[in-house]
Amino acid sequence: DNFSDYQLSEEIKKALTSLNYKNPTEVQRKVIPIALENKDLIVKSQTGSGKTASFGIPICEMVEWEENKPQALILTPTRELAAQVKEDLTNIGRFKRIKATAVYGKQPFAKQKLELKQKTHIVVGTPGRVLDHIEKGTFVVERLKYLIIDEADEMLNMGFIDQVEAIINKLPVNRVTSVFSATLPKDIDQLCHKYMNHPIEIEM
Ligand code: AMP
Repeated sequence: DNFSDYQLSEEIKKALTSLNYKNPTEVQRKVIPIALENKDLIVKSQTGSGKTASFGIPICEMVEWEENKPQALILTPTRELAAQVKEDLTNIGRFKRIKATAVYGKQPFAKQKLELKQKTHIVVGTPGRVLDHIEKGTFVVERLKYLIIDEADEMLNMGFIDQVEAIINKLPVNRVTSVFSATLPKDIDQLCHKYMNHPIEIEM
């Protein structure tokens, strides 16, 4: 398999070349073709496997540059991971001029509010602050089409699962949802079955 086997635009392919990503990793080979078909996915995979790009490449490919309101939300358990995912998405979407915004706690709310007012295609953040922005109306979710829950088992360990569920309940029902997790504890599995549409399970 090669990145040129996938239905990717020149802008995305150019970014992968500039990142020196020559061949897709195993998780990318399994996830990218299915994600590009807008199917719900549950992916059991570890960090370091290239999982960020496995959802980042399809998301950057599918978001429409012209749309002003956010189209994708990526939830992460930690601020560090949110910042890293934002950076990876910015790199993958560089030549398409994709704008990703990170929102997380312990950072000024007002600055994030200003950033969310600008054109933003993708929002990456931790559950508490994301929920806060949705409830205050500073993160408009009406055009949201893609939800990715990254490191779902860590969300559970850190006690964020109720906030994650509260966020899901505020999003449009017509959306594509993907869950990435190293393990699939019962609470995560139940959440998936409650809120996902015939998810395809991928095990590494
Ligand atoms: P992740 O599992 O998403 O944290 O990615 C682990 C590392 O692999 C990161 O430094 C990525 O930049 C890198 N990476 C992801 N996909 C590829 C690829 N297809 N080829 C080379 N490096 C990659």
